[in-house]
Amino acid sequence: MQNPLLKIENLHVTYTTDESCVYAVNGLDLELFAGETLGLVGETGAGKTTTALSIMQLLPEKIGKVTEGSILLDGVDVLAATDADMRLLRGSTVSMIFQDPMTSLNPTIPVGDQIGEVLLLHKKRISHAELNQGVENILELVGIPAGRKGDYPHQFSGGMKQRIVIAIALACEPKLLLADEPTTALDVTIQAQVLDMMSSLKEKLNTSMLLITHDLGVVAQTCDKVAIMYAGEIIEHGTAEDIFNGTQRHPYTDGLFGSIPDLTVRTRRLSPIEGLMPDPTALPEGCKFHDRCPHCMEICRKEAPPKTRMGSHLIRCHLVSQQNNGGVAR
Ligand code: SF4
Repeated sequence: MQNPLLKIENLHVTYTTDESCVYAVNGLDLELFAGETLGLVGETGAGKTTTALSIMQLLPEKIGKVTEGSILLDGVDVLAATDADMRLLRGSTVSMIFQDPMTSLNPTIPVGDQIGEVLLLHKKRISHAELNQGVENILELVGIPAGRKGDYPHQFSGGMKQRIVIAIALACEPKLLLADEPTTALDVTIQAQVLDMMSSLKEKLNTSMLLITHDLGVVAQTCDKVAIMYAGEIIEHGTAEDIFNGTQRHPYTDGLFGSIPDLTVRTRRLSPIEGLMPDPTALPEGCKFHDRCPHCMEICRKEAPPKTRMGSHLIRCHLVSQQNNGGVAR
């Protein structure tokens, strides 16, 4: 069987300051195979970006720390890699698209030079002509005329800036692309164009993608697999078919779907999930969603829910466990 390109096991990440310790990621397991797109979904503070930063080894120095677990990327033990190893890995094996294109680009350098910098860093023996050609090819690939390589970021619209950020991330054809809310700062029509472009580039270059989003519409449009994150844990995982059309769902996922307007149903109000995510410096016992869950039982307050697997579909919930085991929680 094919080995996963990315394998994360039991990842724990904390942010520690003099005053407190934030438990951002708490025992996360994840696998991603070559060519796959996995949607990592959850609300702000669920630990999605922290997971991506851990893969890139870009957690804030001194504060952010992986306290437990392992990350294997294309056979390399990321957590044991040196700074020099990581500099080689970033760009050629793994790249990240950050959320806001306005702050990802240097406003004082022409965009062509910013793309060229990545090529120069990873292709040491590249000639001037090859570098020029490489920059022009990448710009054309993301739908920007090569003649604009001398323009500065402020001369581009928001959608075009995001295309340039994607071009920089794809410059060395990485095996894995971490896309952190890549279209959140864009309006809906530009968002659709950028997502289409990312999907076709992914096909063309056979890149795997970890797409971080809170938008289930984006997931439906783009992803093969979906992982739902809550308070630093993956509480549901499966194929897009399992999550969108499966017969069982985690109550939190159900709440996410309940928060989306359905144009086929006449309703006066949406049903948002009541309450807030627990304080990450003092996570509750048992199921971390229990304070907000309409199905909360006694056991949910005391014991961490078990994982119930139904083929490719995995759910962490006492209720689902009981329903699948004749009323006995595993
Ligand atoms: Fe709700 Fe209990 Fe399931 Fe948590 S384990 S989601 S509290 S039913």
